[in-house]
Amino acid sequence: MDLDSLIHIAERAAEDCAKGINDKVGHNLKKVLTTFRKHKISDLHLQSSTGYGYNDVGREGLEAVYAEIFCGEDALVRHQIVSGTHAITLCYFGNLLPGDELLAVGKPYDTLHKVIGSDKKEMGTLQELGIKYREVPLENDGSISLDALLEAISPETRMISLQRSKGYQWRPSLTIEEISRIAKSIKIEWPNLIVFVDNCYGEFVEEREPLEVGADLIAGSLIKNPGGGIAPCGGYIVGRKDLVERAAARLTAPGIGKEIGPSLGNNRLFYQGLFNAPHIVGEALWGAVFTASLCSGLGLDVMPYPNGHRTDIIQAIRMGNRERIIAFCRGIQRYSPIDSHVTPEAWDMPGYEDQVIMASGAFVQGSSIELSADAPMREPYIVYMQGGTSRQHVKLAVTETIKDMINCGLFQL
Ligand SMILES: *Cc1c(COP(=O)(O)O)cnc(C)c1O
Repeated sequence: MDLDSLIHIAERAAEDCAKGINDKVGHNLKKVLTTFRKHKISDLHLQSSTGYGYNDVGREGLEAVYAEIFCGEDALVRHQIVSGTHAITLCYFGNLLPGDELLAVGKPYDTLHKVIGSDKKEMGTLQELGIKYREVPLENDGSISLDALLEAISPETRMISLQRSKGYQWRPSLTIEEISRIAKSIKIEWPNLIVFVDNCYGEFVEEREPLEVGADLIAGSLIKNPGGGIAPCGGYIVGRKDLVERAAARLTAPGIGKEIGPSLGNNRLFYQGLFNAPHIVGEALWGAVFTASLCSGLGLDVMPYPNGHRTDIIQAIRMGNRERIIAFCRGIQRYSPIDSHVTPEAWDMPGYEDQVIMASGAFVQGSSIELSADAPMREPYIVYMQGGTSRQHVKLAVTETIKDMINCGLFQL
């Protein structure tokens, strides 16, 4: 089949999913708007503070809004949280004590391996503090065996860590339905266990969020979904009040917690980004369906399938060799608004074990709610594409990238 026909099919596949995507955007936008109205968010909240940032009504209002939208008792939403990894790290270090055990379901996201630590005695890890760590491996098909998980819980287990999005793994992402089933089963027998969910890339993709179905604590990055492409940095934590408070005591200091932290001009960007987030997530989802269809038309394995259930904005494509993942990332970079002339190279990114190649021609450095693609340099050479603040940009960038790859002989039609 020629490329024009494949593009046409991909566009139809995306349009077939558009109704479902629009319904979710509508639902989530209504949830956000209702919360803004209820909290009477006003011009006052968009102002800023400096120094200690005491009584920053904008910051406090934003945290109240986050808590309500994500159905937690409290929230910590700060530009001082430097990344998603940092937000998750605060949840771990704030809520685990020496002798406690962290039980992860599947291998956590790459950057967390160094947070957890190993026998190599790295500095400042959970391991160094005497916090124990175990993993319940996923089944071969990437699913979670509830029996194996319940079996693995010991009296020392304090926290179960789930990851909603697939990360750099070839597995289905964890749906809200699955999180619900897991959290509820754990709570029957172990009501005091903390169920933590790494919610990166999952926000506003489904109608419900993890805290609504039994999780206790979630964390994520503001340069992913909830920042709506506008937040220039930051992270969030939402959940049970005591757990958020402990994370806040780690971010600042015990006794200070959430009370200080100047917003330095970010309040408006965080509110505006949050208001835009459901819409932007919808654009990214349309782009992901388009890309999944086009790539499977080229004979590639994709996860999820074009019309598969989605719980995050990630589209994984098994490219199968090094040349193709490099060419795909370079293509996405070439068709980005910023740094289009730059050629991405695989490099040793801090926190990652394998070299990673990353295309991110974004207005916010490293933002992956803007169109981006990245891949760890390892078998079986899977590229992970996500984001896109407009569906037309995703379509344009992916189509031109694939054309270039065909012209270089990387695909045969
Ligand atoms: C992006 C991501 C993280 C880490 O976020 P950074 O902001 O890159 O530190 C953690 N977990 C998952 C699933 C992610 O997608």
